[in-house]
Amino acid sequence: MKKLYNSNTGEYNLVMAYPAIEAFALSSLGYMWLYKIADTFSGINAVRVSTDKLYVNSQNVDSIAFSLSFDFDYLGVLEIMEKLKIPFYSKERDDSYPLIFAGGPVITTNPKPYEAFFDFLILGDGEVIFEKILTILKSKKTKQEILKELSTLEGVYIPNSSVNKATVSLDNVIYTPILSENSYFKDTFIIEVARGCMNRCSFCTASYTNLPFRHYEYEKIIKAIDLGLKHTNKIALLGAQVSAHPDFERILDYIDNKIESGINIELGISSLRTDAITPKIIQILVKGGQKHSTIAIEAASERLRKFLNKNLKEEQILKAVKIARENGLKGLKIYSMIGIPFEQDDDIKEFLNLAKKIKEQNKGFNIEFSFSSFVPKPQTPLQWAKREDTKSLEKKQKFLEKELAKLGISSKFSSAKWDYWQTVLSRSDDRITPLLIEVYKNGGKIGAYKSALKKLNIDISKAIEGYQTDEELPWDFIQSNISKLHLKNEYKRISKYL
Ligand code: SF4
Repeated sequence: MKKLYNSNTGEYNLVMAYPAIEAFALSSLGYMWLYKIADTFSGINAVRVSTDKLYVNSQNVDSIAFSLSFDFDYLGVLEIMEKLKIPFYSKERDDSYPLIFAGGPVITTNPKPYEAFFDFLILGDGEVIFEKILTILKSKKTKQEILKELSTLEGVYIPNSSVNKATVSLDNVIYTPILSENSYFKDTFIIEVARGCMNRCSFCTASYTNLPFRHYEYEKIIKAIDLGLKHTNKIALLGAQVSAHPDFERILDYIDNKIESGINIELGISSLRTDAITPKIIQILVKGGQKHSTIAIEAASERLRKFLNKNLKEEQILKAVKIARENGLKGLKIYSMIGIPFEQDDDIKEFLNLAKKIKEQNKGFNIEFSFSSFVPKPQTPLQWAKREDTKSLEKKQKFLEKELAKLGISSKFSSAKWDYWQTVLSRSDDRITPLLIEVYKNGGKIGAYKSALKKLNIDISKAIEGYQTDEELPWDFIQSNISKLHLKNEYKRISKYL
C-alpha cells in the first residue's frame, strides 16, 4: 500500500466507513479522495473501515461517515452499525453515540429510504463541502449545535428539511491517493477527467445528477498523469463520458508519446462513447495491454435509442465494432438494456438483426452481449415510468439468450429479480425503511425481501408502477440543477414518440 500524501492527525476521531469489502473501498475514487481530505485535515484523526476490516470501537469515535455507491450498500451500513453496537435509527441515539452521516451517488439520487439511519446527509459533490463539515465537526459542540451549523451549508440535508444540492466547479484534479495491490483495480492510478455527461440520455443518473457537465483543465490532467507514472504504470481515466473532454485527443497523444518513448503504460478508460471510437483510441488501448473493451448501445433499436436521446445509429455501432477489431482488440462486450418503457417485439427483432450483422462482419472477433433490465431512476426524465413485469423480462432474457446462441454469440443478463428490488429502493420513500432493516436481519437475499414484504405489508406499488406527472415525488424536496418542469417536458416528449 502506497500513500501519496502526508497524513495529519488530531483529537477528533472520524471513521470513514465503506459499506462493502476493502477491495471496493480502495477502488472507489470519490470515497478515497474524501478519506484523503480527512486524513490531511488538521485536528482530525481519520480511520478507514470496511465490512471486512473493522478495527474500531465506537466508544472512541466522534463521528462515522458512510459512502453509498450502489442501492444495496445499505446492507453494509447496517452491518457496520450492528458490529459497532450502534442503534440503526438516529432518533434512538443520544449524544453518547457518534454522529453518523452519509453521502455518495445513492444518497444524492434519493436519500428518503435511508435517511432515518443518519443524523445528516451530503447531497451532490462532496469534496468542497466536506472540508466545511470537518471544520464544524471538530469544534466539538453538542450534536444539536453541530447540526444547526451544518444545516446552513449548501448540500447538507438534515432529514425532513429541504436542500440544495452542492455543485462544485472542477479545479484540482481528483486522483487515487493510496495505491494498493488489494484494490479491485490493483495498483491503478485513477484520474477523474470529467464529471457528468452532456448527452442527457433520459434514463441516466450519471448525467442528470451531475449537471452541468464539467471537466478539468488539460494541463492539470497531464500533471496528474505524470504524478501517477512516478508510482505505477497503470493509469485509468475516469468520467461518465471521458471522450467528451474537449482535449481528449491531446490527452491521448500525451500518453501515446510516452508509450512511444519506451515508457510502459497500461491505460484504462472508464467509458467510451460508441460513436466517438477512433482507430487512434483503440490503438493506444491495445499498446497499453488492453485486449477487450466495452461499448454501450443502451437500447435494442434505433427508435428506442432516439427517444432516449442516445441517438446511436446501426451503422455507427457496426463501424465501432469494425474499428475495434481492425485495430487490435481481441473482443468487445456490447452492453444494452431491455425493458425500456414501451419496448416492442419489433425492437427486439431489430436488435437480433444487428447482432447477426455484427457476427457476420466480424468473424473470429469475440463478441459478448451483456444486458441489464431498465431501472427507472429519480431525477431523470424517466423517473415517472413503469417498470416492466419480472416474468415478462425473464421471458425476453430467455428468448434473447437462445437466439443469440443460435448466432454463436454469448450473452449475460443481470437478474431481473434483483433489478426489481433495485427499482423499489430507488423510487421509494421512508415508509420502506423498516423493510430494509428486516431484510438485513434475514440475510439480505431475494427471499428476505419477499418475506419482509409479506410480514410488514408495505405498499411498494408506486415504485414499480410509476408515478403520475402531477404527483409529488419522494425526492421532490431536493433542489437540483434541473427543474422538475424540464424533466416533465422531456418525459412528455418521449411519450409522444411511443
Ligand atoms: S452517453 Fe452515457 S453517460 Fe452520457 S448520458 Fe448517455 S448513458 Fe449517460
